Amino acid sequence: MRAPMIDVAIVGAGPYGLSVAAHATAAGLDARVYGRPMEAWERHMPRGMLLKSEPFASNLADPGGNYGLEAYCRPRGFSCAYGEPIPVDTFVDYGRWFQSQAVGEALDPSQVTKVRAEGELFVIELETGETVPARAVVLALGFLPFAHRPAALSGLPAEVSTHSSEHHDLSRFAGLDVTVVGAGQSALETAALLLEAGARPRVVARGDSLRWNSVPDVSRPALRRALAPLSGLGTGWRSWVWSELPDTVRHLPAGTRRRIVRTTLGPAGSWWLRRRFDGHVPVVLGRTLAAAAHRDGVTLTLRDGAGMEGTLRTDHVIAATGYMVDVGRIGILDGRLTRAIRRTGTSPKLSRNFETSVRGLYTVGLAAADTFGPVMRFVHGAGFAARRVTRGLVSSLGVRPSTGAVGGRPVEHAAR
Ligand SMILES: Cc1cc2nc3c(=O)[nH]c(=O)nc-3n(C[C@H](O)[C@H](O)[C@H](O)COP(=O)(O)OP(=O)(O)OC[C@H]3O[C@@H](n4cnc5c(N)ncnc54)[C@H](O)[C@@H]3O)c2cc1C
Repeated sequence: MRAPMIDVAIVGAGPYGLSVAAHATAAGLDARVYGRPMEAWERHMPRGMLLKSEPFASNLADPGGNYGLEAYCRPRGFSCAYGEPIPVDTFVDYGRWFQSQAVGEALDPSQVTKVRAEGELFVIELETGETVPARAVVLALGFLPFAHRPAALSGLPAEVSTHSSEHHDLSRFAGLDVTVVGAGQSALETAALLLEAGARPRVVARGDSLRWNSVPDVSRPALRRALAPLSGLGTGWRSWVWSELPDTVRHLPAGTRRRIVRTTLGPAGSWWLRRRFDGHVPVVLGRTLAAAAHRDGVTLTLRDGAGMEGTLRTDHVIAATGYMVDVGRIGILDGRLTRAIRRTGTSPKLSRNFETSVRGLYTVGLAAADTFGPVMRFVHGAGFAARRVTRGLVSSLGVRPSTGAVGGRPVEHAAR
């Protein structure tokens, strides 16, 4: 069945997709956001996880700023203070509340199975069999399409080798020896949660030591605050620029941008995780994965800095080895669209309004980090992205008076 044409189809209902939807509908655009709200946070992050970002840097964005995390937490008696990590369940519920308040009926929880071009339009194919013509498309797919695994694990079957993003309930590993590869928050927290779920985890990492973030100083004197301001990406002027001025990052040379994305908030564990990890989870440092074989569990071959190899036997290996943006891995894009997207390396080249080289096709979140810097890897970048994308949509599509209402309130034409 073919649905009536809409202005913009937003694919993905995570923090970025919902924020873009809130802005686009408020600007009078006929927008639809597709996907189950906050699904990646509910199903692809471990149960019991705490957010690494501070509450003030974990807001979804609506144009009026009415539906921040604090507006959700305070009336419910949940703490939302600096230095107090937010449980992932609370964040999922917050995202769904935001959707009900700021996005309303612009949500369609169907999965998008294909996005293709048809003349000047795009056509969105849904899992329901419905097709929807749209004048523009915003890809807000988040991190799931880009899960990165070390090549050495590629020959292992799925029952003994997974990526951290495949897990929510870690209790299935109770009693098993599990090796977690990686040194970032995801690796360290997965290992701590595995231990707490009755498994026998260990961490294998390339570096010679693990890094831990320091305890936040909640009462910093004014001088210290001026010398090292607080931002969504941590303290210090450099972090502040990457966090608050993503458009400045866009003007830096490509190599510099890439280095900033790679090194800002690099692999490190949260301060609150350390006491659950240190002394409880065995760690093998200074080793890279050279090979892996599957026979009666998994045998990993690990190589040290001098090239010496040793083996380690484990029941299951979890690659907590992050995400690498690659346009070629956006499976829902029709091949012709994929080929038409210009890139630097494997990331899309984007305009100042997050538009790809395909007119009317935008992408936000992690896929935009190569252009706008590290803040796009975090919820904190959602407000900037939503404002910019909406500005681009409004200027290229034009704004029509909206007849709809969002969350029971009349739509405000905020972009006029
Ligand atoms: C373990 C872990 C912990 C993290 N902790 C933090 C943190 O504490 N703070 C922080 O700021 N960031 C954190 N991040 C980064 C976080 O992923 C991003 O900040 C955030 O998810 C970005 O929002 P998003 O909307 O771009 O992506 P997502 O939240 O991934 O949302 C994208 C959505 O698109 C949906 N989708 C994909 N394909 C389709 C399709 N074809 N049809 C319909 N829907 C589709 C997905 O199911 C998903 O729900 C963490 C990441 C990981 C992996």
